[in-house]
Amino acid sequence: MITIAEIEAILIDVPTIRPHVLAMATMHHQTLCLVRITCSDGITGIGEATTIGGLSYGPEAPETIKLAVDTYFAPALIGEDATKPALAMERLGRHIVGNNFARCAVETALFDAHGKRAGLSISELLGGRVHDRLPVLWTLASGDTARDIDEAQKMLACRRHDAFKIKIGKRPIEEDVAHVAEIKRALGSHASIRVDVNMAWSELEARPALAMLADAGCDLVEQPIHRSNRAGMARLVARSDVPIMADEALNGPASAYDYASAAAADVFAVKIEQSGGLIAAKQVQAVADAAGVGLYGGTMLEGAVGTIASAHVFATFPRLAFGTELFGPLLLTEEILQQPLDYREFGLEVPVGPGLGIALDEDRISFMRRDASRRTISIAAGERG
Ligand SMILES: [Mg+2]
Repeated sequence: MITIAEIEAILIDVPTIRPHVLAMATMHHQTLCLVRITCSDGITGIGEATTIGGLSYGPEAPETIKLAVDTYFAPALIGEDATKPALAMERLGRHIVGNNFARCAVETALFDAHGKRAGLSISELLGGRVHDRLPVLWTLASGDTARDIDEAQKMLACRRHDAFKIKIGKRPIEEDVAHVAEIKRALGSHASIRVDVNMAWSELEARPALAMLADAGCDLVEQPIHRSNRAGMARLVARSDVPIMADEALNGPASAYDYASAAAADVFAVKIEQSGGLIAAKQVQAVADAAGVGLYGGTMLEGAVGTIASAHVFATFPRLAFGTELFGPLLLTEEILQQPLDYREFGLEVPVGPGLGIALDEDRISFMRRDASRRTISIAAGERG
């Protein structure tokens, strides 16, 4: 039997190209937790977990993911059959509750290794791809209207993105809507404009705000109210002219079923980490398809590894009405792959090689890891959140 021999979790800090301003945090860097699994036949697989702004988005942070993988996941998995990722994850589920992000990184590494062994890409292992390339939007989150317009126009001109998500919810509603309306006016019909409120509004605030956003030409509103207010989401969906997407509210197939059966979202943002892994994300897609809920391929602003794992999953979705936001690696200043990802013509090419179909630049990884002797950046305590 080919077994799981070793599991290593590595933290890497990478600066972002500009401050990324969200309702709950401003990011100046991203911390990637890479998980490397070595099997007894010498094949290795990699996976990744990241979060948005440390612990400000959800219950897991890169540091807690590393701790969970080192302390609990590794002892439970070492010695298990490396050729059956689904069985290994099923067994793991008996010992470990929650920790969806960590689960996803481990499952990705198992699939990467298994794909390399079988000579198949992860999308082929998951049933085969429907798309070879995925549309990718860009998030405008500098917080400055003129800078956001300039950034969007450059993206349109170089044909990298023609759909834009604007992060709002930090400022008063009138200011936020004016910001969105001005960007939409400047870009016109060339671009789709969506917003992500990251749960910042109450239901009472969201009601007029959704109507104002509809007037401003906004195509989609993401998670306007708190993840726990499913009934409020259903009431907003029933009265809104703009489609409403659930993001933070989803944490796997059961939550997707819950939201679909309550008609509490028009669209689901599917995220592999939030879902609890690649198989779980496919199950979220199945629930959405069965319920007639639209799909969007979401990101936790992962680096290249998590982005490509997501791409393999989304490439198998027959319907992806709102495209994806797999731009995480483009927000980072450092390349961690031997061959950079292929972003062009408003989309991302899904690699065809075995497993993830990508190779880490091991020298760069050794240089950038948090426990390396030379650090790439120093992180002020206040910046971690
Ligand atoms: Mg979101």
